[in-house]
Amino acid sequence: MTTAAPPRAPALSPSRAADFRRCALLYRFRAVDRLPETPSPAALRGTVVHAVLERLHDLEPGARSGDAARALAHEVLDALEPDDRALLGRDPGVDALLARYLDLEDPRAVTSEARELLVEAELDDGTPLRGVLDRLDTGPGGLTVIDYKSGSAPPVRGELRALFGVRFYALLLARARGVVPTVRLLQLGDATTLTLRPTADELGRFAGVLRAVWAAILRAAPTGDFRPNPGPGCAFCAFRDRCPAQGGTLPPYPGPPPAQGTAVLLPLPRPRSGEPT
Ligand code: SF4
Repeated sequence: MTTAAPPRAPALSPSRAADFRRCALLYRFRAVDRLPETPSPAALRGTVVHAVLERLHDLEPGARSGDAARALAHEVLDALEPDDRALLGRDPGVDALLARYLDLEDPRAVTSEARELLVEAELDDGTPLRGVLDRLDTGPGGLTVIDYKSGSAPPVRGELRALFGVRFYALLLARARGVVPTVRLLQLGDATTLTLRPTADELGRFAGVLRAVWAAILRAAPTGDFRPNPGPGCAFCAFRDRCPAQGGTLPPYPGPPPAQGTAVLLPLPRPRSGEPT
C-alpha cells in the first residue's frame, strides 16, 4: 500500500514568481486554478533533454559518453506517451541539443553533488522560497548551480528574465547553505554559457523584489484579485480564451488557498508550455 506524500506548504518558485511579475492572472491560472496546459514541442523537447542529462550524470563519470547520452535519449523518447511522441515529430531534435551540450562541457569531468535537487529556504521575513536545481556541482571554486536551457542565449530583452532565474537560485542556495554559489546557464540552443555570481548587494536587492511579490500574492489570494497585464507575452499564453483582456471569460475563482494547503505556488519541475526553457 502506498501512502500519499504530505502536502507541501506554499512557497515562491522561480517560475511562478516570474509569472506573477509578468501577469498576475497568468500566475493565478497556473498556480491557483492549476489549469492544464498542452506543452509546446520546444518545451517538451526541453523536458526530454533535462531527463537525459539527469540520467547521464547519475552514471559513473567514465560512463558519461556521447553514445551513452544518445542511448538514454532513445530510452526517454520511447517512454513518452504516444501523443507527446507525436508532438515532437519524426526528428525530435534531442540529439542536436545533446551534441551542443557535449560541446559545452565534458560530462566525465563533472563532479556533481546532486541532480534535480529540491531546495527550500526562507527570507528573513518568512517569505518561503523553493526551487529545483538541475544540477549542483562542487569544486575548488565552491558550489555551482547548473541550469540547462534548451533555447538559445537570450536576446538583450530576454536577459533580464534569465538573470531573474540566476538570482533566484543564488539567493535560494545562499539562504539554504550560507554560501553564494556561482550560477551557470548552459544554453543548448546555440552552445553558449552564461556564468554569474551575484554580489551580496545584488542578492539583498533581489530579496526585496521577492518579498514584494510574495506580499502581493498574499494580498490577492483571499479575494482572487489577480489582474491581467496584457503584453507581447500574451501571444504565448495558453489561457487567452479565459482572459478578459483578450475577450475571454474568466472562470470562477476557486477560492483562497487553505492555510496549510497545497493549492498555490508549488513549483513545476518543468515548464508545460510556451517558449523554450
Ligand atoms: S493572455 Fe496575457 S493578460 Fe491574459 S492571462 Fe495570458 S498573459 Fe495575462
